[in-house]
Amino acid sequence: MNTEIDDCIIVGAGPAGLTAAIYLARYYLSIRMFDCGTSRASWIPTSHNHAGFPDGINGEELLDRMREQAAKYGAMREPRRVTDLKHDGKAFTVYCGDDEHRARTVLLATGVVNNRPEGIDERMHDEALARGLLRYCPVCDGYEVTDRRVAVIGTGDHGTAEAQFLRTYTRDVTLISPEGDHDLSDECSSVLDDAGIVRLAGPCGEFAIEGDRIAFRTADGRKAYDSAYPALGSVIRSELAVSCGAKVSEEGCIEVDDHLETDVPGLFAAGDVVVGLDQISHAMGQAGVAATAIRNLLTEIEPLRR
Ligand SMILES: Cc1cc2nc3c(=O)[nH]c(=O)nc-3n(C[C@H](O)[C@H](O)[C@H](O)COP(=O)(O)OP(=O)(O)OC[C@H]3O[C@@H](n4cnc5c(N)ncnc54)[C@H](O)[C@@H]3O)c2cc1C
Repeated sequence: MNTEIDDCIIVGAGPAGLTAAIYLARYYLSIRMFDCGTSRASWIPTSHNHAGFPDGINGEELLDRMREQAAKYGAMREPRRVTDLKHDGKAFTVYCGDDEHRARTVLLATGVVNNRPEGIDERMHDEALARGLLRYCPVCDGYEVTDRRVAVIGTGDHGTAEAQFLRTYTRDVTLISPEGDHDLSDECSSVLDDAGIVRLAGPCGEFAIEGDRIAFRTADGRKAYDSAYPALGSVIRSELAVSCGAKVSEEGCIEVDDHLETDVPGLFAAGDVVVGLDQISHAMGQAGVAATAIRNLLTEIEPLRR
């Protein structure tokens, strides 16, 4: 076990973790940042809604720039998976397999992972994503499908909400159930009818890229679309918060106060893993607030002076 105690350990080096690292390092705090390397931002072919980049920016390039900025102040990303987290009332123990690290505070910036459609192989998935044939975030890139032919793979309240959101951008929206028949309440059906959103039963399968379209099988035969949005939910990576006793929502998102602190004192969270809008700007804003709250908490314990 490492006997030194850090001021803060950040888990996750996506936009939230990296922003926090830049702030905390510039507050002259001793930090470490563990990351197992699957930021959702690395999936972004080009983001057009991230302010400051009028021609858009690739997600990996944005992460590179943030890593470079953090490294400039001594905050290095360590490529390790954190496997457990404990709090003994005074400090935290962060486990990376058999290694243990102690910290006065911890920031969880572990994000979420989108569920993919079944039966699409990884290579095709990544190519479709890179070409905008598969998309996961209407808030991010609905604008890019303006007047295009769009499929939403999903059903129920979530599928309906996503299809309805995309109807802002195009008249040609089809909601396709991932498995058998749709599971839609009367309210959902009436919302979809009112918006002119077509429904098709599943199962979806036999995905293929055909020219500039993504095609797949439905109960109504093979169909091709300019873009398909899986609306299949996501895995919220909040297990470390749970293992430490912090409160999470019904969906599994970490619950925090206005300063991004959980109900475990000294345990903070920011970004997609927290209840709220899953966007880079939000992740960065939350990380700035959390990092400053961490700094203020530590200075109450012992004044931070040069
Ligand atoms: C296809 C796509 C396009 C998008 N486009 C946009 C866009 O245009 N604009 C926009 O604002 N947003 C966009 N988003 C959303 C954006 O990517 C996320 O909101 C953002 O990445 C959230 O940042 P985060 O730091 O909270 O989480 P993430 O970026 O997901 O980073 C979390 C990090 O935590 C690490 N981690 C998790 N668990 C552990 C562990 N136990 N130990 C160590 N490390 C761990 C992961 O490896 C990962 O690197 C898009 C998302 C997708 C999927």
